[in-house]
Amino acid sequence: MAKAYAGGCHCGAVRFECDLDPAAETSRCSCSICAKGRFWKTIAKKDAFRLVKGADMVTEYGFGSGIIRHCFCRRCGIKPFGRGNMEVLGGVFYAVNVACLDGDAPLQFAAREIVFQDGANNDWSQSPAETRHL
Ligand SMILES: [Zn+2]
Repeated sequence: MAKAYAGGCHCGAVRFECDLDPAAETSRCSCSICAKGRFWKTIAKKDAFRLVKGADMVTEYGFGSGIIRHCFCRRCGIKPFGRGNMEVLGGVFYAVNVACLDGDAPLQFAAREIVFQDGANNDWSQSPAETRHL
């Protein structure tokens, strides 16, 4: 059962809402950008994500194929979400930064299992051998 969550960047310029299952899978990945930012994500479908403030404050970064757009606040530099369009994830999706959710939502999600993905080796279905740095 989905529940509405709110979140945003550090300075408050970018705010979003999303509908997530409180039991939704969250993950950390070893790919080059997730590892550097220690990005902790959960996936929201297109219709379950709403950017409610700061569209003009979001700046996007892409690399490689550019399929994934990493969305940062241009003032504080925090990345509240990424977005992309991948068949394996059901089309248009948002990768919500769990750490950017309001209140105790990050603690609630942290109490559950976090899935580790070996993005460094393009093998997201497997956990990397080492995860402590992610
Ligand atoms: Zn900000």
